[in-house]
Amino acid sequence: MKLWNLIIVGAGPAGLNAAIFAAEQGLHVKVIDEFMKVGGRLLGQLHEESKNEWWNGIEVADTLHEKAIDLGIKIECGVSVYDLEQGESGWKVYTSKGVLGAEKLLLATGATEVPSPVPGWTIPGVLSIGAAQVMGNVHRVKPGNSCIVIGTNVLSVAIANELKLCGIEVKEIILPPANKTLTEGGDPEKVMGSLMRLTHLAPSALLRQAGKLAKYISPNFAVKFYPKNGFKVFDIPIKIKTAVAEIIGDNQKVTAVKTVNVTSNGEVIPGTEKTKEVDFVCVSGGLAPLPELAAISGCSFKYAYELGGHIPFHSERMKTDVANLFVAGNITGVESAKVAMAQGTVAGLSIAAELNGSNQSLEFAIENALDEVKKERETALIEFQPNIKEKREILYQQFEKEQAEREYKLSAL
Ligand SMILES: Cc1cc2nc3c(=O)[nH]c(=O)nc-3n(C[C@H](O)[C@H](O)[C@H](O)COP(=O)(O)OP(=O)(O)OC[C@H]3O[C@@H](n4cnc5c(N)ncnc54)[C@H](O)[C@@H]3O)c2cc1C
Repeated sequence: MKLWNLIIVGAGPAGLNAAIFAAEQGLHVKVIDEFMKVGGRLLGQLHEESKNEWWNGIEVADTLHEKAIDLGIKIECGVSVYDLEQGESGWKVYTSKGVLGAEKLLLATGATEVPSPVPGWTIPGVLSIGAAQVMGNVHRVKPGNSCIVIGTNVLSVAIANELKLCGIEVKEIILPPANKTLTEGGDPEKVMGSLMRLTHLAPSALLRQAGKLAKYISPNFAVKFYPKNGFKVFDIPIKIKTAVAEIIGDNQKVTAVKTVNVTSNGEVIPGTEKTKEVDFVCVSGGLAPLPELAAISGCSFKYAYELGGHIPFHSERMKTDVANLFVAGNITGVESAKVAMAQGTVAGLSIAAELNGSNQSLEFAIENALDEVKKERETALIEFQPNIKEKREILYQQFEKEQAEREYKLSAL
């Protein structure tokens, strides 16, 4: 079995950039992705960053892909990795097309959507918001002509705008029902907190100002004065005092959404039901890191609400507490594509340093790459959760402390 220097699982921005930087250091790199094209979630991304400046994920993915090919990186799409095993000669990577071997392994498997159960969500024509993004932006197919988006969060608002750019009428963005499984998404106050981090995306100067004021206003106060008919962001009404009661349709298609008004605490106000006609519905429960392969590897995990859920415990240089195993991108916490790319650079260089031995210029490059991650985090247009930076700092310090303790114990044996 051929032994690669490095196998990367995931050809998203983190995996591709890691491959490029590792290959530039002379490593033989193989990248595997189960999707039919490279680019990961970049493929669905299209948004205006500042006036007339667009982030076109497909173009970014193409550029990274070309660079990777020029560097001789082997990329295989349509192949799933389902198991990992570490032996004396390195990692065994079990894929749907056979077993591969590598000295080092980088997991860059990204994030997944969190399911958000709503009455009527099995009717044909109900999609997760991410699926609607892929249909519209990747496959260039309109999922329908008019929709309601259920679930108000950073992702759903950003993608609702993309659907509008596809020529779809997005009637409104409303809340899921408040119930035991959807405590957060159905609570207007919590949703308000997330909206207040989003207003800098808004096309109107007034709303952008509101975003700046968010630091000084409590979500509780803001919910009380939130208008019943919502605020418009990207010309789409966001209604946090309206929740879905039921999606209506038959076993063929969605025909309407029944909504109800709710109080600031998310309690239903009886007698306020309304039926709104649509031909499809998008449901959004937010994002969580996709860490199954890391769990198989045996590395430690931490739960971090700020990062979207359970993440493989890792250092700032993207190393886990299992030897020869690295992680990068959204598997380490949900952030924007630019942060994922910057983390990929750190991982690629750190792996090269571990494999080839470090030197002054490589150390300098790693330090620069670490600064770049921080810069991208500071200036990210989409901040999926609050306090990402602070939480990461805490976890990195904790990782170093635990590693030092572990080494001390081993040296004492
Ligand atoms: C539905 C959705 C929509 C998003 N929309 C935006 C947006 O509009 N703007 C934004 O900034 N961010 C968005 N994000 C966040 C996005 O994840 C990051 O922007 C960025 O793409 C993360 O990069 P990554 O390389 O970590 O992972 P990804 O880009 O997700 O790439 C991971 C890759 O790993 C592959 N993979 C996973 N498991 C396996 C396996 N077992 N075997 C083989 N291959 C595997 C996947 O097929 C995928 O191609 C979105 C995320 C999701 C889930």
